[in-house]
Amino acid sequence: MYDYILRGGTVVDGTGSPAFQADVAIKDGRIVDIAATLVGAAKQIVDVTGLAVAPGFIDIHSHSDTSFLLDGRCESKIYQGVTTELAGQCGSTIYPCPKDRMDNIRNFAGSVFTGFASDSFQAFMNKVQAQGKKMSTNLISLIGHGALRCGVMGFEDRKATPEELKEMQELLHRDMQAGAWGLSLGLGYAPGVSSDQEELNALGEVVAKYDGIITSHMRDQGSNTPSSLEEMYEINRKTGAHIHIAHFKASEKNNWGRAPEFVQNVAAAREAGINVTVDLYPYTAASSGITTSFPKWSIQGGTDMAIARLKSEERHRIMDFLEDAFQTKSDGESLYVVTTEGRYPTADGKNIWELSQELGLSMAETMAKVTIETEARCTCISFCMSEGDVDYMLAQKNYTIGSDGRGLPLAAEENKGKPHPRNFGTFPRFLRWAREKGISLEESVYRITGLSADVLGLTDRGTLRIGLVADITVFDPVNVADKATYVDPFQKPEGIKHVFINGHPALLYGQQTDKRLGQFILKK
Ligand SMILES: [Zn+2]
Repeated sequence: MYDYILRGGTVVDGTGSPAFQADVAIKDGRIVDIAATLVGAAKQIVDVTGLAVAPGFIDIHSHSDTSFLLDGRCESKIYQGVTTELAGQCGSTIYPCPKDRMDNIRNFAGSVFTGFASDSFQAFMNKVQAQGKKMSTNLISLIGHGALRCGVMGFEDRKATPEELKEMQELLHRDMQAGAWGLSLGLGYAPGVSSDQEELNALGEVVAKYDGIITSHMRDQGSNTPSSLEEMYEINRKTGAHIHIAHFKASEKNNWGRAPEFVQNVAAAREAGINVTVDLYPYTAASSGITTSFPKWSIQGGTDMAIARLKSEERHRIMDFLEDAFQTKSDGESLYVVTTEGRYPTADGKNIWELSQELGLSMAETMAKVTIETEARCTCISFCMSEGDVDYMLAQKNYTIGSDGRGLPLAAEENKGKPHPRNFGTFPRFLRWAREKGISLEESVYRITGLSADVLGLTDRGTLRIGLVADITVFDPVNVADKATYVDPFQKPEGIKHVFINGHPALLYGQQTDKRLGQFILKK
């Protein structure tokens, strides 16, 4: 007897091949049959007539690696149809660290997660298990380069010594052996911003040895995108490691219209033999800490240094930069404060123009004030991309989709401020976008399932085939759409009907079940 039969749906198998009518049977966590009419008995039969039966969506750029410690429901992802997430991105994890410097990683993890900061990926997984923490989606973990560097050398703004490089390599070796999938870079943030090519290559060697992936929040995502890409290519040339450009974009107004150039840059590199892949999210706004708007030199040594510099004679250099970036009303309106987490509530939910009017300060002075008042712990949303550029990149058939979001609760009162709608809507939004652009369902599903699995080298998920793990998302292809907006992000998408993870229902008839089915997926 089967556990479940999904009866009467249209199978969109995630490979891009034509959809077909079939029943899908699940037993013991696996897909055991796909056929026109299955006659065997099942413990539960779900009528999916008129719906698309697809592989579970893979969120290839996720920050859910800590959010599940606070809330195992992972509602914002489950309601989108996400079943697996590649987490620990942008250089940020709460492991690893040399045992004799644990304060470094505790400091990096921040007060909320101090107790889970660990000396290794394995130690972190042990803590999760020992404390009975559950997650709803499957998590694949990268090792954050920022964490690794901070663990070994704190926020020191200098080149790593050969001994420190060796220490970082050893920690990475050990965590790759424990099943981490690769390394994530956050070169726009401290302490990643203080690293150089030699350091990246040294770590690339380790990742290459395990056939892992290096995902990169690049040093610059605006004017200097070409040199930032070059830095990534060089890792591949020197080590052979697979490199992956995260949340690719043409950021900042003066770069709007450059998406074709950036896309061509990556295409040329691929043609020249560089193993480089890409992801992006379908929104024109980014979300990050307030110091992302600061000049890079000012965050060298950590965001605490940015604050110290704002209080020193270097202040005018930062202010000159900010005056330049915030000249017009629309410049100020394009950046708003999501939350200061109680540190400076006056700023919550306001854009920089609004706030500057209220405070009677220039916009640059306003930025400095919010940064100091919040000790730079302030999340912002920045409308830094053009729709034309985002559309152009989204249309690239070999680009995967990642939310850059985390698993969050759907109730407004359980959240801090108004997080970016990408946390709640990325995948339904992409499917809606594709439908409106006349892209076939087979192709759009492939982009968020089979292609992502290929990029990751994930062989037992990402497509619907007999024998594979039963991670399945059932949705209405005609109506599937995101509902989350910047004003009201806390909205369930439309059209996501059932989600199966590891063979059991995480979402049934549009409602999340009480099962927490997620597992760590470890690299073998
Ligand atoms: Zn990032």
